[in-house]
Amino acid sequence: MTRLRMAVIGVGHLGQHHARILAGLPDVELVGVADANPEQARAIAAKLGTTPYDDIAPLVGRVDAVSVVTPTVHHHAVASTFLKAGVPVLVEKPVCRTVAEADDLIALAAKANVPFQVGHIERFNPAFEELSRRPIRPKFIEAERHGPFTGRSVDIGAVLDLMIHDLDLLLSLVGSPVRNVSAVGAAVFGGHEDMVNARLEFENGCVAHVTASRITRHPKRRLRVWAPEGYAGIDFVTRKLTLVQQSEEVREHGLDVTHLDAAAKARLKDEVFGRYLQVLNLDGDRKGDQLTSELKHFINCVRTGNCPRVNGEDGRNALELAERVLTALRNHQWNGSQTGPLGPNGLPAPAGFLFTPMKLAPNKAA
Ligand code: NAD
Repeated sequence: MTRLRMAVIGVGHLGQHHARILAGLPDVELVGVADANPEQARAIAAKLGTTPYDDIAPLVGRVDAVSVVTPTVHHHAVASTFLKAGVPVLVEKPVCRTVAEADDLIALAAKANVPFQVGHIERFNPAFEELSRRPIRPKFIEAERHGPFTGRSVDIGAVLDLMIHDLDLLLSLVGSPVRNVSAVGAAVFGGHEDMVNARLEFENGCVAHVTASRITRHPKRRLRVWAPEGYAGIDFVTRKLTLVQQSEEVREHGLDVTHLDAAAKARLKDEVFGRYLQVLNLDGDRKGDQLTSELKHFINCVRTGNCPRVNGEDGRNALELAERVLTALRNHQWNGSQTGPLGPNGLPAPAGFLFTPMKLAPNKAA
């Protein structure tokens, strides 16, 4: 099989991992890495034994496919250059800055008839893959994505940085348009929202509560789904899926606690999980990392011409829903009135301290 000639555009925090993985795949030739920062391009190229570029133009015509991992503001410019030349593109999430930009890329990919994939990586998390194979019709969902502040992706807020992962997962899992969106959130360090909670009501009756925060000390990324078929819980960090369903006994006869005698009631707590509710724990941790799966999937789509699991429309739909969350967030009335403070940057100023301020040691570096 001829090796696929690939390049990574943008080799910062995440792009260098795209490049490292591609450089290690036997059916890929990493022909180069490009970065607006020439030193960064040189450092990563030297590490991986490939050619550095500080401009993408020379790569057009030398590659069969590219991975675009620049900051979101540059996704459209970079991806459109390659799509116009008929080169398949994998672009990181969020697909673009605006839905109009995303629509443009979708049209360019359709015109060139080449695969266009968006990097919603959690779709390749083994725990989510396993859940997607199960016949579940979600009715209530709780999604949480919390992490500490890293100072990265500050050109966007927590909705486009973090929540968009879960918005894409919800659209894929629920399979119904969203009817209503309400949201509340606050900017703690200024600029964009650092934490946000949204309530989504889908046309099929499903309701989802989605929370994202990039100022939480302890990381947490989980999804919990309640459905007529049972309960599913995913921990995206450990890649574990927990499924709970009624036992045969409960399905056939129900459980009427009002008719249980005192002894049976005393045993109930110990017997709920096991006798009445069955639990299956599935561990996806040994199935390899999801970035490698995502890249291999893209390569397979390039070779076969198949439509990617997360295509341009999926990226666009997640972005459109994210924009609806942002609109709801910006309109949130902190004092319950349109004339009072609104939105993530309008949180009323603190009236006092929750506790006596601590004296910090002087910063030696300052
Ligand atoms: P980063 O700032 O660490 O890296 C971006 C790199 O792109 C930098 O080295 C920069 O010099 C370079 N660059 C900027 N403009 C360029 C251009 N026009 N052409 C070539 N190179 C250019 O950012 P990051 O954290 O790696 O994020 C990059 C993208 O990946 C963003 O879209 C972000 O949302 C996405 N991301 C996705 C995930 C995920 O879980 N899927 C996680 C982190 C970041």
